[in-house]
Amino acid sequence: MKISRSFIILAFVIPLVTIASMVIYFEFIEAKESVFKIIKEHLIMQKVSLFQKYVESMEKNYGDNLAELIIDNPNIAYELESDLALLQGDDVKYLYMLYRDEDGKYRYLLDATKDENERAFLNQKFDTESDIWQTAYKTKQYQVTQQNALETLWVTIAYPIVINQKVIAVLGADFTYDVYTQIVNILNPIETIFFYISFFMFIMLLLAYILVYLYYKTRKKALVDSLTHVYNRQYLSEFLETTSLQNYYLMMIDLDNFKLVNDNYGHDVGDDVLVAVVKEIKSNIRHEDILIRFGGEEFILLVDKKESKESIRVAERIRKAIMNLDIESRNNKINMTLSIGVNPFPYSAKNIEEAIKIADEQLYIAKSSGRNRVEIFDEAKKYESEASNRISDIRFAIDEGGIKCAFQPIFHAKTNEIRKYEMLLRMMNKEGKIIPPNNFLPSIRHTQVYISLTAIVLEKGVQTLQKRPDVHLSINLDIQDILNEDILELLRLTFKGNKELAKRVTIEILEHEEITNFEIISQSISKLKELGLLIALDDFGSGYANFRYMINLDIDILKIDGSIIKNVDKDKTAYNIIKAIVSFGKSMNMKIVAEHIETKEEYETVIALGVDYLQGYYLGRPEFEI
Ligand code: GH3
Ligand code: MG
Ligand code: MG
Repeated sequence: MKISRSFIILAFVIPLVTIASMVIYFEFIEAKESVFKIIKEHLIMQKVSLFQKYVESMEKNYGDNLAELIIDNPNIAYELESDLALLQGDDVKYLYMLYRDEDGKYRYLLDATKDENERAFLNQKFDTESDIWQTAYKTKQYQVTQQNALETLWVTIAYPIVINQKVIAVLGADFTYDVYTQIVNILNPIETIFFYISFFMFIMLLLAYILVYLYYKTRKKALVDSLTHVYNRQYLSEFLETTSLQNYYLMMIDLDNFKLVNDNYGHDVGDDVLVAVVKEIKSNIRHEDILIRFGGEEFILLVDKKESKESIRVAERIRKAIMNLDIESRNNKINMTLSIGVNPFPYSAKNIEEAIKIADEQLYIAKSSGRNRVEIFDEAKKYESEASNRISDIRFAIDEGGIKCAFQPIFHAKTNEIRKYEMLLRMMNKEGKIIPPNNFLPSIRHTQVYISLTAIVLEKGVQTLQKRPDVHLSINLDIQDILNEDILELLRLTFKGNKELAKRVTIEILEHEEITNFEIISQSISKLKELGLLIALDDFGSGYANFRYMINLDIDILKIDGSIIKNVDKDKTAYNIIKAIVSFGKSMNMKIVAEHIETKEEYETVIALGVDYLQGYYLGRPEFEI
């Protein structure tokens, strides 16, 4: 499937950037927190160490009656408060000492706050909601509490003064920290930027997914048939861009007589029937198989080879399922059948069009053989279709005068005169090339065109005989041909009542399959002889043509096969075979012809052996004119 490059970028880059910006954002927040933690700890430790020193000096100089001493003695209070004030710093806002009275309330003992207006007086009640004071009393450990008020960090330390294992008062300090404020001022805008980038990317991501979703939805619409919801024709070409047909059987499915449904029940019912048929087909195939609505009521089915070993089974399953399906639509009950043409080797075809064409031809056969059928293409049929190509070539040649006859001279051994000619069929194809008969005759032997060809040869033969009263012609036919009623009729029509002409014609018969029933052939030969024709047995000594033929058939002439003549002057066995054929043939009153004579030596040898007629390139080649 085609996905544009920008699409891929959209699908990968946006999520990546979104994730990256979110990670950065959260990492940033975490880093900020840990920086703040370090700063805060440092700050607290600084204050604590100051308090520690202050308290140590107090422990040395005063007993556990310190609170009473301060309350009763303004001088001591003044002195201690002055010492406490030394702990002041720019960042400290309130600096004081508290004690707990008998009621458990906290009251000021000292207050060294910088701003005199903010200082509390002795014994003033200390209002607090925090429990750090109580905890400091209880645990004898300093306590810290903090608030982040906007951009300012507020820290309160409660530091217990322990004398003789007793907490007699608590030092308190409330302070902010400038560095913290400065860092916050720098980091906050960066954090905000990252936040917005993440947010923006997240929105982009959302948009991208909506776009992708819409894209696929519309694409699907373009590739799926709106009535049956199976793929449409368009999909096939896209499918083939990424997938090979190697793994599929290709089937062409067409509903039988669907037009009648439309005509009898209306188009809407027709539509319902299509939907029902598709549903049934789908329930008979696998998820991997691909059903495509190729035309109105014509479907292509690609069946996955892995799952279904035999295409015929799938096709038959579908055919039967539809045949047994009762389709109900608008109060009508309808039964349908369908025909299927199967191409089990679509991959061997040149392209998809060819592969479909082959399935379509099978579908056509299924339709013309009565419908509700499955037809499968096989290699034998392929051969037939090649034959049909040949037939169209031959028809073309027949129409355009491309069927020719060449004449090869046959010499009389004693007089060395030309007594006969063998007619040899040639075809000129569309490109003007001469095609020898072996290249086109075998595949058309059982067709009507073959009969037409035979008729042309006979016609040309007769014309020649009439033009040249001195010559004698040999015409080639297959043994099967002389059993064929049409050809026999043709010969009858040509020669009946014209014995003078028939006497000058030899039918050279050639066998392709071994003859088992000599009687029928004998009868055919008799019919030909009644017409006055002479009979020659062609290619004698090769293949099946042997002495049994000589004995069983009423033959006038034997033509010794060219493969035996070859090198007869050097090959002792060939020499002996020919000698035997000649002597046996003569004893049966047959004339002997040696063909394929190509050298002077061969010529002299067969003459010495006593053959009657000679033929071959050494003596004369086939010519179109005589
Ligand atoms: P057969 O294939 O057996 O030779 O006969 P048929 O009657 O099915 O032959 P043909 O292919 O000539 O007719 C197909 C009909 O299908 C013609 C067309 O009007 C009808 N058709 C094609 N598409 C639709 C469709 O979407 N809905 C309906 N109701 N009919 C359709
Ligand atoms: Mg149809
Ligand atoms: Mg059709």
